[in-house]
Amino acid sequence: MERKIAVCPGSFDPVTIGHLDIIKRASKLFDTVIVVVMSNYKKMGNYSFSQEERVEMLIRCTRNMPNVVVDSHCGLLAEYAKEKNAVAIIKGLRAVSDFEDEFQQALINKKLNGDVETLFLSADSDNMFLSSSVIKQVCSFGGDISAFVPKEILSDIVERLR
Ligand code: ADP
Repeated sequence: MERKIAVCPGSFDPVTIGHLDIIKRASKLFDTVIVVVMSNYKKMGNYSFSQEERVEMLIRCTRNMPNVVVDSHCGLLAEYAKEKNAVAIIKGLRAVSDFEDEFQQALINKKLNGDVETLFLSADSDNMFLSSSVIKQVCSFGGDISAFVPKEILSDIVERLR
């Protein structure tokens, strides 16, 4: 039987408990989930962690999820999904803030690769307000971010941003 593969893309600069919740939920729906660390065109040059560091942190945080693998990619997501035979692109959706941008990306990806569906999982209500950038802001001003990021990478973030 064909194994169902999904890709879960993002910048993950750094991965938050909101991202991890989406990855975990996706891992229950698909045989394999490939978390792919990309560099968002709009955020280029503004990352706090290199692509390699973001991959390494994700590997540490997903160790207990046997069907999740972590990779990175620098080109088009639609091409990457085709290369990996993925049937779905999984995105987390927070209230209204993500909708317009995510909808646009889903439509363009469908045009570029008609074989892949974008699926949106709604963010958990506890994580709706969480983003990598708000966490970085709080941390850089000395705030406690321990409830918002996986414990495996808390010290990496604090060391980098304080
Ligand atoms: P990008 O820079 O490509 O927007 P992000 O790393 O910010 O990537 O986010 C990757 C994906 O995770 C996006 O689909 C985004 O909507 C989703 N996401 C981000 N934060 C949360 C959260 N708190 N809860 C659920 N999904 C989230």
